[in-house]
Amino acid sequence: METVDPIRIGDHDIVDTDLDKNALDVITQLNEHGYDAYLVGGCVRDLLCGMQPKDFDVATSATPQEVKETFRRSRLVGRRFPIAHVRYGREIIEVSTFRKGEHDHLETNDQGLIVKDLAFGDMADDAFRRDFTVNALYYDINHHEIVDYVGGLQDIDARRLRFIGDPAERLAEDPVRYLRAIRFAAKLGFSIDDSILDHVEDTAERLDAIPSARLFDEFIKLFLSGYGEAAWRILRDTPVARSLFPSCNPTSELIVDAMHNTDERIAQDLPVTPGFLIAVLLWEDFSARNAEENPDDKPGPIFDLAMDTLAVQQQHITIPRRYSIFAREVWQLQPRLIARAPRNIRRLLGHKRFRAAFDFLSLRGAYDAELKSCADWWQQLQDAGEDEQQQMIGALGGGGKKRRRRRRGRRGQPRSPADGPLG
Ligand code: ATP
Ligand code: MG
Repeated sequence: METVDPIRIGDHDIVDTDLDKNALDVITQLNEHGYDAYLVGGCVRDLLCGMQPKDFDVATSATPQEVKETFRRSRLVGRRFPIAHVRYGREIIEVSTFRKGEHDHLETNDQGLIVKDLAFGDMADDAFRRDFTVNALYYDINHHEIVDYVGGLQDIDARRLRFIGDPAERLAEDPVRYLRAIRFAAKLGFSIDDSILDHVEDTAERLDAIPSARLFDEFIKLFLSGYGEAAWRILRDTPVARSLFPSCNPTSELIVDAMHNTDERIAQDLPVTPGFLIAVLLWEDFSARNAEENPDDKPGPIFDLAMDTLAVQQQHITIPRRYSIFAREVWQLQPRLIARAPRNIRRLLGHKRFRAAFDFLSLRGAYDAELKSCADWWQQLQDAGEDEQQQMIGALGGGGKKRRRRRRGRRGQPRSPADGPLG
């Protein structure tokens, strides 16, 4: 690559108090040992957009080994490209060595996918191997300057995501970059340049070749970073969504609502789980199977049909077992929450998935008055004191409100004679 002179900009809104003191310490120490070091990537981008960065990454001329020798509390991680983690109490600063992105240093397979990338380079190399122009900005803490090799500042001003280099090539190297574009567009409110959007079809196909476990990681970042609703709105009606979630209905409003709730929970620091989103994304597929093959909502078939729905999804994105079980349990509880069999109420309240299943029922209630009144009943029950709860359960009468069916023991588990109405 020919030498490229960056532009250096001192006129910007970043002030020292915005910067993480541990990241500053890393840079200062590297400088004292004679290495170049800069803040880079997401933190510079977010600061320029007036957002609080989630973490501060450092890029340096020191090799990983040299970084390790500079900091006692550090270790090297990563196989494809080692980076150093420098630890300050609970915080970890990621320090990566400038590396080359030129294609002759990458080992690609016959579809152009990167399989190995091991060459170190200089700062310009490092800038050009990054994905989006807005992700390739450096901050020089000694001169208080932004260092821009790729026109990233212009794109920040234009609020636009563009790849560095040829979009077709960059997506062939790593189609997950398309999902990253969606994530950053959602988070920053930026537009995705047409030169990227034009490749939606071939990207959808290429994503099939990406290990489904990496796609799960990206799924988490897309939908559990606080901007899931926006990300889903961008993604849902594209061939990429069909490739990732083939059985998901792109027009489902339930999904938008769930994404919205998840974002709000994240904003309030409440816990969120991918299991809930998986339950939502695959709900229509599961409930269509169930309506067709198990109109009586029998528990045995529900289990099997849930597994069928999940198995189809697993072929595209790995869902760790605990989350697929979570989704299945949420689905299994739906008919039981609706039926409200008096003898089951207390057990349901104590079920470890009760809260999630109740939240799910509440979401569904927005589109169905009967479900809404059922969800309201459960809400009232949870708010009620012991006596009032007893009254509410008593008022349900002998059977459930809906869908009475002959009481039978669960498979392999005979019904106990003590299972009376209020048992
Ligand atoms: P976030 O705020 O979500 O952490 P980020 O920009 O820091 O955003 P990371 O995934 O942490 O995103 O990656 C750090 C930097 O590494 C990016 O800014 C980008 O420069 C570079 N990078 C990450 N993934 C890729 C990729 N697949 N291809 C090229 N460059 C990448
Ligand atoms: Mg980051």
